[in-house]
Amino acid sequence: MTEISESELLGRVPAALFIGGEWRSSSDNSTLDVTDPSTGDVIKTIASGTPADAKAAMDAASAAFPEWSATPARVRGEILRRAFDLLQERSNEFALLMTLEMGKPLAESRGEVTYGGEFLRWFSEEAVRVHGRYGANPEGTGRMIVSQHPVGPCYLITPWNFPLAMATRKIAPALAAGCTLIIKPAELTPLTTLFFARLLEEAGVPAGVVNVLTTSDSVGVSEPIISDSRLRKLSFTGSTAVGQKLLAQAAGGVLRTSMELGGNAPFVVFDDADLDKAVEGAIAAKFRNIGQACTAANRFIVQRSIAEEFARRVTERVQKFGVGRGTESDVTIGPLIDDRAVAKATRLVDDALERGADLRTGGKAIDRAGTFYEATVLSDVAAGSEILREEIFGPVLAIVPFDTEADAVRIANDTEFGLVSYVFTQDLARGQRMIEKLETGMMGLNVGVVSNAAAPFGGWKMSGLGREGGAEGIHEYLQTKYTLTPNP
Ligand code: NAD
Repeated sequence: MTEISESELLGRVPAALFIGGEWRSSSDNSTLDVTDPSTGDVIKTIASGTPADAKAAMDAASAAFPEWSATPARVRGEILRRAFDLLQERSNEFALLMTLEMGKPLAESRGEVTYGGEFLRWFSEEAVRVHGRYGANPEGTGRMIVSQHPVGPCYLITPWNFPLAMATRKIAPALAAGCTLIIKPAELTPLTTLFFARLLEEAGVPAGVVNVLTTSDSVGVSEPIISDSRLRKLSFTGSTAVGQKLLAQAAGGVLRTSMELGGNAPFVVFDDADLDKAVEGAIAAKFRNIGQACTAANRFIVQRSIAEEFARRVTERVQKFGVGRGTESDVTIGPLIDDRAVAKATRLVDDALERGADLRTGGKAIDRAGTFYEATVLSDVAAGSEILREEIFGPVLAIVPFDTEADAVRIANDTEFGLVSYVFTQDLARGQRMIEKLETGMMGLNVGVVSNAAAPFGGWKMSGLGREGGAEGIHEYLQTKYTLTPNP
């Protein structure tokens, strides 16, 4: 592993679009500034793709598909494995780059390199495990063959909060399945994807198989791609509001879609829980990524008899958090991504306080360069507060007391979202009842972090469609064919 200065690292990141195996400027030479949210300074200026570049990327992904889809799965898997190995060698560089463009503490960026890298390793193994079926039909009049085929060129749109992992979680299964792709990273954090595309090039991904379209005009470049009849799949991670718009556009071409959307995770603590573990889980589920995770616990639903003790203990922990630039040591609270994020946290906390919540610590923006908000704990948050309806996406822990198990279930499910839930109880039967009753695609039972490349990640209700990771993840990029043949 190499130690590298910030300026040297930024100098190594390509500043161009990656289309058809070439690094090129945008068709009209327009550019996009990338800033460090901990200072507000521009750290790099890169190409900003246009609708004409989108068409060129679509041409490249389409032209590369026949050869890539016919490449043996073992060969595709080995390229992914090489990418995994290269990422391990460069983990310090990727970690620092994510901290610079997104702001999270370096230790968390390293954790993301590990998590994001696992998708490369997992799908390098899954590439060769795409199976079909062959057998007599029930009537005995013929043979049925069920086979799997890559869907074709894909368009992948990723958010800013996990710049590497959200990209590898889509790119790895797409390549393993034999698909070509265009990836459009978020305009706020495009550098990690560019740096990763260069790594994929070195790992042996052929020209045109992976194309990167950085842009400040997401709508302008996405529309022509989504309406192009050569596109076969749209995979999106981001907000539910944007997901709904993209689903409407995808309907025109009856495009296959995967949607990883917003969350509003309940974190339920029963009075029989191991409180030390619940507090530990709460800190991880809330403050990881400075609260900016779709899996972040949004509502802490705590049994009334222990709610005060829980609030006291989490407040004690939160008051010790270091605040600063993610590159500094002992920092938990880095910057939020931008001014809008600070404004949102401010609005939600102010609304909760107006409705009678108790402010235990924090509660306002931090007066310093960059976009910082204090780590905050609110207790006795009143039903009807906006903070219980909306995704906070910031370091604010909101506690709602409950009395009975039935109340906990009702409050936890009282949201249109259904991504993940967390439950802390030492009663096995109660834990099993919660598995059956909570309306979420994922659940942490006595743990505060659930994500794993080997697990199917995805939501119920308005949190999305489809799964990423696990044995399921590759099927998002495969389509099924059934063939009937006469008996031999
Ligand atoms: P966002 O929806 O604003 O943007 C996501 C991506 O979509 C970005 O690349 C953006 O440039 C692009 N985009 C925005 N409008 C578009 C349009 N009209 N057409 C095409 N592309 C468009 O979300 P964000 O602020 O980047 O990310 C935060 C959201 O993502 C949160 O809601 C979070 O819960 C969600 N998220 C979900 C998961 C998951 O797996 N379920 C993971 C991470 C983040």
